[in-house]
Amino acid sequence: MHVLIVGGGVVGLACAHALADRGAEVTVCEAGTLGGGSTGRAAGGIRTQFSTRVNVELSLASVPVWESFADDFGVDIDYRRSGYLFLARTEETAAAFRENVAMQTDAGAPSRVLSPEEAAEYLPELRAESFVAATFSAADGVADPHSAVQGYSDAVRAAGVDVRTKTPVTDLARVGGWRAETPDGPIDADAVVIAAGAWSGRVAALAGVDLPLAPRRRQIAVVEPEGDLPADAPLTIDLDTGAYFRPEREGTAIVGGHFSASDPDVDPDRFDESMDIEWAVEATERADDAAAYFGPETRIRNGWAGLYAVTPDHHAVLDEVEPGLVVAAGFSGHGFQHAPATGEAVADLCLGEDACGVDVSALSLDRFESGETLRERNVA
Ligand SMILES: Cc1cc2nc3c(=O)[nH]c(=O)nc-3n(C[C@H](O)[C@H](O)[C@H](O)COP(=O)(O)OP(=O)(O)OC[C@H]3O[C@@H](n4cnc5c(N)ncnc54)[C@H](O)[C@@H]3O)c2cc1C
Repeated sequence: MHVLIVGGGVVGLACAHALADRGAEVTVCEAGTLGGGSTGRAAGGIRTQFSTRVNVELSLASVPVWESFADDFGVDIDYRRSGYLFLARTEETAAAFRENVAMQTDAGAPSRVLSPEEAAEYLPELRAESFVAATFSAADGVADPHSAVQGYSDAVRAAGVDVRTKTPVTDLARVGGWRAETPDGPIDADAVVIAAGAWSGRVAALAGVDLPLAPRRRQIAVVEPEGDLPADAPLTIDLDTGAYFRPEREGTAIVGGHFSASDPDVDPDRFDESMDIEWAVEATERADDAAAYFGPETRIRNGWAGLYAVTPDHHAVLDEVEPGLVVAAGFSGHGFQHAPATGEAVADLCLGEDACGVDVSALSLDRFESGETLRERNVA
């Protein structure tokens, strides 16, 4: 069984790893460099606090891989299990938090609903008076996506995967199996996995498949906070404003969020990869509205923009959309953390096995036609 994976981000590499581990012959074609797409621009957040069962289960299946990554892959991914703190400003959001935590704990995640005062125990400068409720999970944390790409790429190469960078797939045709065209000539495979992140709509179109996937620009700023944000502070999301922040290395912090009503689709080959300074000022002020670490003396150091691959219901498509054509894309802002379980699910779909342990049938492509879409409320 030869599987061709289109895309060498964390998702494509995790798929290659799972497939090679199960004995498949694997080729990865990456148009640019490994991790050079959205993966290298992610905030590194890993959380079990989602609002749908399938997302929680993908997290629960992925977290153990991140936890033992250094031992299993020989690369330190700076995994820090400092938790995620979600904050609610309105009763409506608080009610959703209670429903989410009931579902998350039922699935096996250790999430808890907290009062704002209890939440301040995890984040001392929290402006508790601005919030009505919070949730916290100690199973959540952060890791470095660049190191994860390094670990996966070392492992797949050692397992014999043919990794071809600077090799875009330019056409896909069904010829019994599948034939992919590349500038270096065609590649024949029994199955193809589209793991091309925000470019996946374009790659699927090469095979005549319509994927409802919008590339959307999202920014991150690295700042030197005015206050002493503890190094073990949780990744904190003010869900009603969309602002989030977390400690980074050496006293710096990452702030992020999307605040504009306008959210146009962008051309993934031609979008502005730099950070807008006005946006960074707003993100910092909104972070300070949640917790008093980001006052006027906060220094904005640098930042960048990357792409979310957004589907109409903010959930990935994980599906065999044509015989031998598997899509693993549309992860919105959570594809880094779900990569390990996604790799296993994709290996199941390619090999006709049932080893992943997560039922991903809710992530089929035809849900957009049948109307059986999902609703993920915990997105920032
Ligand atoms: C600002 C920001 C913050 C984020 N924060 C988080 C977070 O905290 N936690 C989290 O889990 N996720 C986060 N994400 C989302 C995460 O980055 C993505 O979901 C994840 O990286 C997707 O991985 P991928 O491998 O599918 O895509 P990518 O990393 O984009 O990889 C796709 C690859 O496909 C290649 N490609 C495209 N077209 C072709 C072609 N024709 N042939 C061959 N190769 C091709 C591209 O060059 C690219 O390298 C964030 C994203 C952004 C932008």
